[in-house]
Amino acid sequence: MEVDLAVVGGGILGLATARELLARRPGASVVVLEREAELARHQTGHNSGVIHAGIYYAPGSLKARLCVEGARELYEYCDEHDIPCRRSGKLIVARDESELGRLHELERRGRANEVPGLRRLDASGLREIEPNARGVAALHSPGTGVVDFAAVARSFAADVEAAGGQIHLRSEVREIGQIANRLRLAHSGGELRPRFAVFCAGAWADQLALRAGADPDPRIVPFRGAYLRLRTERSELVRGLIYPVPNPALPFLGVHLSRHIDGNVSLGPSALLAPTRLRHSLAWPGTWRMARRWWRTGATELAHAVSRRRFAREAAGYVPALEPGDFVPWYAGVRAQAVARDGRLVDDFLISETVRALHVRNAPSPAATSCLPLARLIVDRAEPGLD
Ligand SMILES: Cc1cc2nc3c(=O)[nH]c(=O)nc-3n(C[C@H](O)[C@H](O)[C@H](O)COP(=O)(O)OP(=O)(O)OC[C@H]3O[C@@H](n4cnc5c(N)ncnc54)[C@H](O)[C@@H]3O)c2cc1C
Repeated sequence: MEVDLAVVGGGILGLATARELLARRPGASVVVLEREAELARHQTGHNSGVIHAGIYYAPGSLKARLCVEGARELYEYCDEHDIPCRRSGKLIVARDESELGRLHELERRGRANEVPGLRRLDASGLREIEPNARGVAALHSPGTGVVDFAAVARSFAADVEAAGGQIHLRSEVREIGQIANRLRLAHSGGELRPRFAVFCAGAWADQLALRAGADPDPRIVPFRGAYLRLRTERSELVRGLIYPVPNPALPFLGVHLSRHIDGNVSLGPSALLAPTRLRHSLAWPGTWRMARRWWRTGATELAHAVSRRRFAREAAGYVPALEPGDFVPWYAGVRAQAVARDGRLVDDFLISETVRALHVRNAPSPAATSCLPLARLIVDRAEPGLD
């Protein structure tokens, strides 16, 4: 089957990309290939569901620019398509004086990134927003909110099909080759010959890029992020989103409390090397270099994973009324985090090229928030390959 564009991966990014291309080129033939029996089964359907406002990211980075734009556009998209979302607001709480320097740096970044409505609060100010939270100071971001990203992805899929695109489920791309002036994608449901392909394959991004002839650096190292759920009768302890001050050297935001769009409150996620593809992760020198550098953090995460008590105690650091018995196990998601050969966790979004193809090599949080402008950036780079 010959088409203009193939998108590999039916998560929020692949679907946003297919949708963007069809909006620019009505009548183009576009096919999305997804290995699972349904869309959004991986990161898109198993995350914190937070529409980030753009506070954390280094000014000038893709994350900073696309997150601020993405949040604004995503709220508009949800309003237009009747997808429930809520600007519930977020507090980043400094538990003691030792965290004030890092809180100050977050405030500086947030202002440089032009995050709307960002405010610094003192101990009593933060209790007005979250009466059960305790800390010496906080940043309040009223524009941070919640949504079900899987619902957004399904809506993008409907847009793709309404514009004439096709979505093929149970179609795992296994081989990538060249044939005349096209790519040849052999998948579990047959073969596709696109003029150009965009790979948005999350945890499998590196494997597919390698098969297409890309540099093996960086590799995806999957991190499992498990969540606990606050029992319904205790859920009034959290109004919106309460986050700790994160370690600025890591791209993870720390264990946070989030009231989801369905009203449930989660605590999480943890961050442990995922057992899926562990052998693949351990075969990468970057994983060992990363482990040498971060073994202390890894030990804390392991303690969280094996002990609900330790995990809950972390949250009690900023909401003291919380007790381990307040939580029950909930779901888990697997982050597709790129790790460079030198052990560095790749911070920004990363897209690389091979012949007739683009590969999204690193699209961790806040890529779901940023999906609309990120899809525009991908299609800007893909379009010359279609002409
Ligand atoms: C625990 C956790 C919490 C997060 N919290 C947030 C948050 O609050 N806010 C936020 O903005 N972001 C958050 N993120 C990040 C966000 O979920 C991801 O950035 C986003 O979902 C990435 O979308 P994607 O389409 O690239 O990846 P995915 O949703 O992982 O989709 C990739 C798709 O590719 C398919 N695929 C892979 N290989 C093949 C193949 N060979 N052939 C065909 N199909 C293939 C997979 O089946 C999958 O459906 C979080 C992520 C995690 C894991």
